[in-house]
Amino acid sequence: MKYQDNIKNVAALQPDYLGFIFYEKSARNFDSESIPDIHEAIKKTGVFVDASLEFVIDKINKHNLQAVQLHGNESPEYCDDLKNRHAKFVSVSHPLEIIKVFSVKDEFNFNRLKPYEAVCDFFLFDTKGKHPGGNGYTFDWNLLNHYPSTKPFFLSGGIGLEEIEDIKQFTNSKASKYCYALDVNSKFEIEPGLKNIEALKAFKKNLSEVLDYKKEHVMNYNVNEKGYYGEFGGAFIPEMLYPNVEELRQNYLKVMAEPDFKAEFDKLLKDYVGRPSPLYFAKRLSEKYNTKIYLKREDLNHTGAHKINNTIGQILMAKRLGKHRIIAETGAGQHGVATATVCALMGLECIVYMGEIDIARQAPNVARMKMLGAKVVPALSGSRTLKDATNEAIRDWINNPVDTHYIIGSAIGPHPYPDMVTRFQAVISEEIKWQLKEQTGNENPDYLVACIGGGSNAAGTYYHYLHEPEVGIIAVEAAGLGVDSGESAATSVLGKEGIIHGCKTLLMQTQDGQITEPYSISAGLDYPGVGPMHAHLAKTGRAEFMAITDEDAMNAGLELCKLEGIIPAIESSHALAIFEQRQFKPNDVVVVSLSGRGDKDLNNYIEYFKI
Ligand SMILES: *Cc1c(COP(=O)(O)O)cnc(C)c1O
Repeated sequence: MKYQDNIKNVAALQPDYLGFIFYEKSARNFDSESIPDIHEAIKKTGVFVDASLEFVIDKINKHNLQAVQLHGNESPEYCDDLKNRHAKFVSVSHPLEIIKVFSVKDEFNFNRLKPYEAVCDFFLFDTKGKHPGGNGYTFDWNLLNHYPSTKPFFLSGGIGLEEIEDIKQFTNSKASKYCYALDVNSKFEIEPGLKNIEALKAFKKNLSEVLDYKKEHVMNYNVNEKGYYGEFGGAFIPEMLYPNVEELRQNYLKVMAEPDFKAEFDKLLKDYVGRPSPLYFAKRLSEKYNTKIYLKREDLNHTGAHKINNTIGQILMAKRLGKHRIIAETGAGQHGVATATVCALMGLECIVYMGEIDIARQAPNVARMKMLGAKVVPALSGSRTLKDATNEAIRDWINNPVDTHYIIGSAIGPHPYPDMVTRFQAVISEEIKWQLKEQTGNENPDYLVACIGGGSNAAGTYYHYLHEPEVGIIAVEAAGLGVDSGESAATSVLGKEGIIHGCKTLLMQTQDGQITEPYSISAGLDYPGVGPMHAHLAKTGRAEFMAITDEDAMNAGLELCKLEGIIPAIESSHALAIFEQRQFKPNDVVVVSLSGRGDKDLNNYIEYFKI
């Protein structure tokens, strides 16, 4: 946009973004003193081509821009610098949206996007031509069928009234799944920088159905920049913890996007953990329930559960951040063992905080941690269980901010922990996709099922399917002795909004906000909250939540032993128990996350069934 009256007239059509080009060589260069007042919901976007950071920041300040579109050869470092400088000098409460442009011709190497994943908010695909943008013809949108990312993108390049039918078709295709916006320019111009209002009106009217549909249905279940899933999440931490959490927040995506990091993570998952874990078609179980049940065998991982995926990721993160001392909290000891394991692997000092009562109850895991070289420190305050161990760990971290990393064991805690843990566990759904495709010809199941303590195996199982509306998501909580018995851990039913361990989520609490002691026969599900992503999935209805009692879980666990020769962890048995309660169609493909093996639970099974 270039001319004052024309800007106002286009703004009246209520676009989501309006663009102003700051590039002297362009015929559309915006050289007015100011942009007229337009509705604040319209994001004023500066368009730049290889401009200096000073120039960009100056324009952002002067015109109060909320977004920038980068059309030149700006590097990932450039994008990152821009974001950081903006945060420092302009406004922390209004983060800048960075839209990085890529020009596409007959082909496009999508690997080019990778280094930008962590440092920009949107990609924009434009047609490669003589000028950086505004060339007036389209590229082959089918190329986007190979779009490997989940980052929302703008579609651009020669879009005009003649493209309406193509756009309608495109919105029904796979390639459009992450299409977030249409960017129109030259085809609607009377002359460079002067838009034809009537043509834009007609365009909008013709596409209104499609655009409304997208707005309503393209729901975002990923974390936003401030660490929220809808209304849940965030970072509610004491001031003294701020530098530690902030250091992690600023670095985690960047580190995870480094090719070296990714290569090391993948190699350890393969050679040390034993991934990919099999996706196993459980034939006899399927026959019994007259549906198609596949088990994702996280129980076969080294150390016997999914938890190791996360601790491997976090120990590599800690090393990249120059930390050589690791702390963790543990309840039943599973996360403590997974942490002690990776510390031994990397030769790092490991301190695990554990309630004194839990230490007495979980002797084998305490012994494992000690054999692996960890120091187990008893928490002696309060009820001397998990909550008190967490307090001790946080105290330690505050006192050792520089050399220590705190490994949290589930998709909980202050931002960025829930997102970081989810991304490390997302290897589960990444594998399910290709494994299912290999076995059934279709990468999407009809349902995904996982048990939820804090929600890390569930988050990993759902991650790559969150935005596939045809894939049903079932989350299974522990009802303990029954949802209304007072001895339960069914947070989505019993919980109310509250703050626990640094994030806002659903939480079991009394009238005056005291955390209620949860109960479940399975130690891993015995947690009074759920991760913020799951609170959001519950609130939006994206996931169906079910609560399973101790009794139903134990029976389902024993049934798996008899039908498939697999002894599941009691946590995982909760996910298996839904088949007694919920009907599936004979042709439904149901993938269940078998989060862990039952070796650790033998005593429980023995006592329960008097074996
Ligand atoms: C710890 C654990 C769980 C629960 O933790 P999430 O973070 O909810 O996955 C589930 N299953 C097993 C086997 C566990 O060890």
